[in-house]
Amino acid sequence: MPAVTLKAPRLFREACYVGGQWITADNGATIDVDNPATGDIIGRVPSLSQADIQQAIDSAQAGFNEWRQMTAQERADLMLRWLDLMQEHKEDIATLMTLEQGKPLAESRGEVDYAGAFIRWFAEEARRNYGETIPAAKRGQHIVVTRNPVGVTVAITPWNFPAAMITRKAGAALAAGCSMIIKPAEATPFTALALAQLAEEAGIPAGVLNVVTGDAPMIGETLTASPVVRKLSFTGSTAVGRKLMAQCAQNIQKVSLELGGNAPFIVFDDADVDKAVEGAIASKFRNTGQTCVCANRFLVQRGIHDAFVEALSKAMSELVVGDGFDEKANQSCLINKAAVEKVQTHYKDALDKGARHVWGESPNDAKGNYVQPVLITDVSHDSTVCKEETFGPLAAVIPFDTEEEAIALANDTPYGLASYFYARDIHRIWRVADALETGIVSINEGAFSNPAAPFGGVKASGLGREGSRHGMEEYTELKYLCMGGE
Ligand code: ADP
Repeated sequence: MPAVTLKAPRLFREACYVGGQWITADNGATIDVDNPATGDIIGRVPSLSQADIQQAIDSAQAGFNEWRQMTAQERADLMLRWLDLMQEHKEDIATLMTLEQGKPLAESRGEVDYAGAFIRWFAEEARRNYGETIPAAKRGQHIVVTRNPVGVTVAITPWNFPAAMITRKAGAALAAGCSMIIKPAEATPFTALALAQLAEEAGIPAGVLNVVTGDAPMIGETLTASPVVRKLSFTGSTAVGRKLMAQCAQNIQKVSLELGGNAPFIVFDDADVDKAVEGAIASKFRNTGQTCVCANRFLVQRGIHDAFVEALSKAMSELVVGDGFDEKANQSCLINKAAVEKVQTHYKDALDKGARHVWGESPNDAKGNYVQPVLITDVSHDSTVCKEETFGPLAAVIPFDTEEEAIALANDTPYGLASYFYARDIHRIWRVADALETGIVSINEGAFSNPAAPFGGVKASGLGREGSRHGMEEYTELKYLCMGGE
């Protein structure tokens, strides 16, 4: 049991959910899960064997056969029941999340709401899974296009949003009539298993939603090697996404990939500084800098540079770092030691290349997995921090002179997930929005995530969209019915 007590202890499951059964590995193998704030072991989850994963595939096929027969309204009702249970047990899910992921409890509660919003949105969308009719080419002929569930699907999810990255995929899949096998991140399986427990209690049929844990490469290979699996949705690193996409080539499985980002956050001279700083804090420091849409590079025009940097350092001085269970903390630990070392490396490299420390404690003085927010400026664009996602509370400012320069710097990356910019000139706003090579452009806004909007990237940031009707379409195949006339 976790050190923190849950109101409903049954939500803490140390078993996988497959075909409506709670299973352990056939050889009894387990994996320890720790609390990143303390290093304490919270519990153990099964390290399933290849045979267990095959069992999950068979169960998901059986689940699909039942689920696809149900009406959209029946599926939506069960999804909404699941949502009700998530909301009823919000505090417990948030507690498990903070325990295994470290994020401040208020953010965990917010994530339960955000995760639930995907279930609500897709449950509503289930009944709008429309096809189309097309004027036929011949007299008497009819052309009808139906939208059908792709079949058994797989979700491989990351640790930074242990609940929302699951519901964003499962909500769309279930609404479309697909079954799903979920492989949560090693660091955060307990949130996923609690969601599965609630799916069972909601009455979602056995096999429709399955959660497996264990050796990630083996699980990924076994699932993609099966012709029964028709789609993979992955959120994680570009390196793993590339590998999974290649694996999916064997059976021509559909893929959705939400991969790394390197978000530019541009502040033009005509921006509202206070608004820009508010957005910068929301974007950079959500989840202690550990989101794939966190601002990674602050490109700031010289005329506003000093005012922005001063206001940002003041706003950063109000951030409170502490254990996720400390209600005063809005910044907490990073996920592991490697994450801390990455921030340290980016900081040191930037300083070596001429950057100036403006505000905050050096990441080199980090204690445990805690890195204090830190602000640097005059960062050279060939620094590592401008090439790779830092995934931590390091705010790096790169001054620029012209709009053209800002756009060129912003696009000078293989990634293209999100970008942000602050400006007031309407002509500039359209020009810059058109020129930025990202799937999401956030204009005078620091927090854009919303289940109704299509989330996803271009270039090495991925393929496909999640959320919105486009997110559900990823789980469907079109069928063209051509009906001949007399
Ligand atoms: P991160 O760097 O954020 O941990 P990863 O891409 O390593 O991102 O992990 C994201 C998810 O992908 C996790 O659930 C992880 O277990 C899984 N994963 C990692 N390597 C593989 C692999 N070779 N095949 C399938 N899944 C993998």
